[in-house]
Amino acid sequence: MSAITLKSLRKTYSNDVVALKGIDLTVERGDFFALLGPNGAGKSTIIGIISSLVNKDSGTVEICGINCDENFSEAKTKLGVVNQEFNFSQFESVIDIIVTQAGYYGIDFKTATARAEKHLKRLALWDKRNDQARMLSGGQKRRIMIIKALIHEPDLLILDEPTAGVDIELRRSLWDFLLEINNEGTTIILTTHYLEEAENLCRNIAIIDNGEIIKNTTMNSLLKQMDDQDFVIETSEKLPTNFSLKNFKTEVIDENKFSLTLSKDSYMNDLFNDREISHLKIKNIRNQTNRLEELFIKLTTKDE
Ligand code: ADP
Repeated sequence: MSAITLKSLRKTYSNDVVALKGIDLTVERGDFFALLGPNGAGKSTIIGIISSLVNKDSGTVEICGINCDENFSEAKTKLGVVNQEFNFSQFESVIDIIVTQAGYYGIDFKTATARAEKHLKRLALWDKRNDQARMLSGGQKRRIMIIKALIHEPDLLILDEPTAGVDIELRRSLWDFLLEINNEGTTIILTTHYLEEAENLCRNIAIIDNGEIIKNTTMNSLLKQMDDQDFVIETSEKLPTNFSLKNFKTEVIDENKFSLTLSKDSYMNDLFNDREISHLKIKNIRNQTNRLEELFIKLTTKDE
């Protein structure tokens, strides 16, 4: 049984913006799945429809085999959603926010406080439990959102841009936490516009652009399709006139700088072992490939 199945999901907002043009998507149980796309692609609209905050025009949503139009109250017990906006009272204490949330799912006080303690300790918020939410940093508030979404132990956790605006250190620890709960059996779907985030976490991926899914595949096969890497190489001496290299595609940028393309079949060693390159005094090598941008260009132009 799938964790989620979307069929022919369509949405046009009242201002005539067509946000979804017929989305078909299945995410299997246990998966760690990325919904990747640029801003405005339709990712939040999909999550809004799944969590019944946005009305769809047509199509169906099934969560763990339960049709949301027929039985949303049961489907919702299987689902935890972490939205981008903080949706708790800033004046309540951290522990109260979490225990109150558990109450919405009919979880008794004792179980709720035990679960809250476990998650707060795991996400390094235990010593903040009695502070009002407004005293916490943005990253700490985001962790409260995650605990809120997990308190009823959902089978499926959906996170909308979980690390937007979160510093690098916290991003890594959030990634570790998400990988842990996925290992323990929770299916996770996250939206992101960072390819790096999807690459580090997810086994499967759908790429959405302009309200349509333009790719739905495994992370590995997607990465294999991404061909060349571009480097900018800076030298401490002037490059010779008409500089070029026999074994690589190069382009001179200025007198101390050129770009070099390494194809997917070549190794960094080819670069280091190249006789011509070894004659240059290299000061710096920078990978300048914007892989995400490249990927979008590739996928969208292929479709045209
Ligand atoms: P993403 O999450 O991928 O950034 P969204 O789902 O937020 O994309 O938006 C998809 C499209 O729908 C965008 O063009 C956006 O401007 C539009 N949109 C989103 N929410 C609304 C709304 N409440 N009213 C009108 N248009 C909206």
